[in-house]
Amino acid sequence: MPTKIMSINAGSSSLKFQLFEMPTEKTVAKGLFERLGSQDNAVFSYSFGTAKEKKELNRFSHKEAVDFLLNFLIEKKILSSLEELKGVGHRVAHGGEAFPHSCVIGIQEEAVIDELCQLAPLHNPVNLVGIRSFKEALPGVKQVAVFDTAFHQTMPSKNYIYPIPYDYYTQDGIRKYGFHGTSHQYVGDEAAKALGEQVESLKIISCHLGNGASICAIKNGKSFDTSMGFTPLAGLMMGTRCGDIDPSILTYLQKNKKMTPEDVEAMMNQQSGFLGVSQLSNDSRDILKAASEDNPQARLALDIFTNRVKTTIGAYAAEMGGIDVVIFTAGIGENSAEIRQLCCSDLAFLGIELDENRNQEGQSFIQKDGKSVYVMVIPTNEELKIAQDTFELV
Ligand code: ADP
Repeated sequence: MPTKIMSINAGSSSLKFQLFEMPTEKTVAKGLFERLGSQDNAVFSYSFGTAKEKKELNRFSHKEAVDFLLNFLIEKKILSSLEELKGVGHRVAHGGEAFPHSCVIGIQEEAVIDELCQLAPLHNPVNLVGIRSFKEALPGVKQVAVFDTAFHQTMPSKNYIYPIPYDYYTQDGIRKYGFHGTSHQYVGDEAAKALGEQVESLKIISCHLGNGASICAIKNGKSFDTSMGFTPLAGLMMGTRCGDIDPSILTYLQKNKKMTPEDVEAMMNQQSGFLGVSQLSNDSRDILKAASEDNPQARLALDIFTNRVKTTIGAYAAEMGGIDVVIFTAGIGENSAEIRQLCCSDLAFLGIELDENRNQEGQSFIQKDGKSVYVMVIPTNEELKIAQDTFELV
């Protein structure tokens, strides 16, 4: 008898859902609520089978959206009754050091996720709203938390301790946590499956390149290092985030340009990256187009972005003592042959070389024949990973 599992990703004004039949992993329905908790009417879009619709609702809170969704699933006979739903899995941004794995959310777990709001003030509170809304609507159904940080809890301390006074780690929890863990773990496992190998036997570098971007070194099936840090601002350059910069820039700007900490934070998170350098757009498609028309700042933005990916691949190859597989995933990684090519150029000395046609076509394997490193394009599926963990736990 197949089981139905719901996968939920709650954002500040949105709620994404995907209903799976397990263990077949078939998507039964999926959709999105937008403009929740605002002055505007909420917008609901969904698809199941061949049916697809987008419609405006009333003004809705997250809880009202959850109630609406459950009624809707019954009304449309997507669920025969709510009893059919055996678990709800929630994406939770930050699990700190408390959660090295996904977990069923009891009272204690909920309290810890709440405490961790101070480390992820933009994300954990809205994730909690999602959890509490479903708990209230479905008191008999297990809620599961799947953390963006959990996969990275296996990093050795040399890779997560910052070289600042140690008390900031012990007293304030300041360390590298890493994010996108669900995605890195999912594509790493998929790569091993496609190769018919145990993930434990491979040295994998997973490049999750979307609007947010991070790279993970996966050694023995575990996260060994990753480019995001204490927050998702660190590491690579991104759509609007700067990634790693000299930390003194922050104090310099505060002292000399009279910027407040909030100004500096907004500059680094919302005005930097592709957008900041190109002064055109945060969207890599616009940057690629402008660069092809010889816009120098778009070209520079592309060069910085791809160079950072390349240097991180080089660093992680050195850290792991080699590479077997490089994976490209997420919006840019899955779709842009040009960016994949730029990221891999000059890496032939590591055994990384792309086949032009395979790369253009976005095939699963895009390395040249006879090369020692497999280069793969694997669509990420965080929703499925959330459902898999939830199914396993319930
Ligand atoms: P996130 O989940 O972090 O918001 P996504 O993984 O959806 O981001 O990726 C969004 C990025 O993917 C955007 O920068 C967009 O330009 C890029 N993208 C999507 N399709 C293409 C494409 N065909 N070519 C280049 N970039 C693409």
